[in-house]
Amino acid sequence: EGMKILVLGGAGYIGSHTVYELIDAGEDVVIIDNLETGYKEAVHPKAKFYQGDLRDRAFVDSVLDQETDIDAVIHFAANSLVGESMTNPLKYYDNNLCGTKTMLESMVAHGVDKIVFSSTAATYGEPEKTPILETDRTEPTNTYGETKLSMEKMFKWVGKAHGLRFVSLRYFNACGAHKSGEIGEAHNPETHLIPLILQVPNGKRDAISIFGTDYPTKDGTCVRDYIHVTDLAQAHILAVKYLMQGNESDIFNLGNGIGFTVKEVIETAKEVTGKPIKAVEEGRRAGDPAVLIASSEKAKKVLGWNPEHANLHEIIESAWNWHSTHPEGYKTK
Ligand code: UDP
Repeated sequence: EGMKILVLGGAGYIGSHTVYELIDAGEDVVIIDNLETGYKEAVHPKAKFYQGDLRDRAFVDSVLDQETDIDAVIHFAANSLVGESMTNPLKYYDNNLCGTKTMLESMVAHGVDKIVFSSTAATYGEPEKTPILETDRTEPTNTYGETKLSMEKMFKWVGKAHGLRFVSLRYFNACGAHKSGEIGEAHNPETHLIPLILQVPNGKRDAISIFGTDYPTKDGTCVRDYIHVTDLAQAHILAVKYLMQGNESDIFNLGNGIGFTVKEVIETAKEVTGKPIKAVEEGRRAGDPAVLIASSEKAKKVLGWNPEHANLHEIIESAWNWHSTHPEGYKTK
């Protein structure tokens, strides 16, 4: 009855959380990860783990030769730092696009025909309106978003030629951590707002920088749609089921549809941790749109997705549960 799912990038932040949910649901999980940004400790002990790179066709073929009955692939294996993608764009083209191309070649050769893809709100670029719909214009403002959009298009054209079906999930601001406290968000270097804020009460940083206080928002700071990583993980499982039922390829936004300003996130983190958090107002960070809020009505209607941890206090509480017990992140790096 259970499904067998190959998770690419299953040792990374969102990948590892999805693996935990899949295994909790009784599914069989195989992971490929090159551990460039993932962590061995984030690999669920019940998952079968292959360390290697998607750009290595012989390696990918050897995994698919051994794992013959894979029902679907979930693809998280990509570089995802906006700033780095602007200074080193070819790294993003190489890893994100060449890795996906090689993986698809191997999938087509092995008759694996379903893929759920970890995409991003960065495919939209500067939004035309709020909340963002899947039908809105896609004009990425950074290389990272451009490569994710190109990956979506690769699935589309490979689908037309070879019968591959895909679901692309465009997430907004992933955050929070697994309830077990076993896994959480760990990036090196860290660039995301919530883990950076929590470094202050953790004694790892003196203050949080607020990037821009002159945006056209209620307090002048950027508004983002923060979505719990466990809710994202559940959406991937629903997307696999959607494809298993024979449905057509499609693209869905994943967010809560509610925006919080940077200052509101800092205030909530003070409440959660019970500690003072010093904030320093600085200039804008290049490429930040003022407001990014998702309409996820389509995912709710078509996939039956229902985010269960939409409350910002609860999201930050789960993140703090991880960061306060793992101030250095995972031990291996
Ligand atoms: N941000 C900030 N200080 C930081 C890191 C981020 O003010 O140290 C802001 C950033 O400008 C953006 C929001 O927090 O408006 C969320 O940034 P993050 O990098 O977490 O996610 P993004 O929205 O870029 O995907």
